[in-house]
Amino acid sequence: MKRVLSGIQPSGQLTLGNYIGAMQNFVKLQDEQECFFMVVDMHAITVPQEPKALREQSEAVAALFIAAGIDPVKSSLFMQSHVRAHAELGWLFTTLAYMGELERMTQFKDKSAGKDSVGAGLFVYPTLMAADILIYNADLVPVGDDQKQHLELTRDLAGRFNSRYGDYFKVPEPYIPKTGARIMSLDDAGKKMSKSNPNPGSYIALLDPPDVIRKKISRATTDSGREIRYDPAEKPEVSNLISIYGQCAGLTVAEVEARYEGQGYGPFKKELAEQVVAVLEPLQARYREVRASGELYDQLASGAERAAKVADQTLRDVKERMGFLLPR
Ligand code: ATP
Ligand code: MG
Repeated sequence: MKRVLSGIQPSGQLTLGNYIGAMQNFVKLQDEQECFFMVVDMHAITVPQEPKALREQSEAVAALFIAAGIDPVKSSLFMQSHVRAHAELGWLFTTLAYMGELERMTQFKDKSAGKDSVGAGLFVYPTLMAADILIYNADLVPVGDDQKQHLELTRDLAGRFNSRYGDYFKVPEPYIPKTGARIMSLDDAGKKMSKSNPNPGSYIALLDPPDVIRKKISRATTDSGREIRYDPAEKPEVSNLISIYGQCAGLTVAEVEARYEGQGYGPFKKELAEQVVAVLEPLQARYREVRASGELYDQLASGAERAAKVADQTLRDVKERMGFLLPR
């Protein structure tokens, strides 16, 4: 059995990109592997968050994990901030990382671009992420394509720790799906779909009502041609919509192309919207049940308890190896 760890930030409304690129793979892994999934609230505050909104989004993300199919008995589901060892190991890793390697991170470059003041937390984000993963000695990390670089850094930090203080950490492997690992924005196929994008028209939120989904897809940018052809270089917008269609309908790209041969964007977009609604409507119904059940807090507490058992031990081992005087 392998250990699996992943997280999602409560930095806005979860999108179809989060679902296709990350969440649906969590669900596939949980039956066979030992899984830890968390709402990474400590990461979300690396960009400004309004306290009330952060609290609501945190609860919403936790409920969406369950609505998407995460079973809080099979998997340990918890809030990152409830397992305090994450922050502490994050600091230890910050002292292990080099400025130069953090400066090369494209997420930092993208999220700090054009800002007058950039939080230091955004810069050291990848060291906390490394701690999140290594604190469970995870084998596999299911993430979207955009997190590949952070995972590479995690692997480097694990190796650095091992060579300095003796073999301790496993070097984790990314688990990135072959298709759907990078869903693009609906208004700009040059950017990935992101929940923190200020334009809600750029993403489909998992909790968007069906009519909003239909409207957003009908307004999604497309080129002036009419062919439904997968060609990310020449037709990036249509290619993105084909990917979404394939993921929601359970079809390959070639099957989607074949289905729409000789048809224009109109019918394709209309039916794409129905495919997305067919996936999200039942998920939304389950979400409402989870929120109404009143069980979420207990489920998160039990997840945090299980996670802390592993995390506290790792932190202790690491501190011992680094030369801290441990309390008796
Ligand atoms: P933010 O804009 O606040 O960074 P986000 O939409 O990028 O939000 P994260 O919480 O950073 O979401 O990422 C959660 C998971 O979703 C990660 O595994 C990430 O790789 C994956 N993911 C994010 N965006 C996409 C996307 N457009 N396509 C596929 N996977 C994605
Ligand atoms: Mg992100």
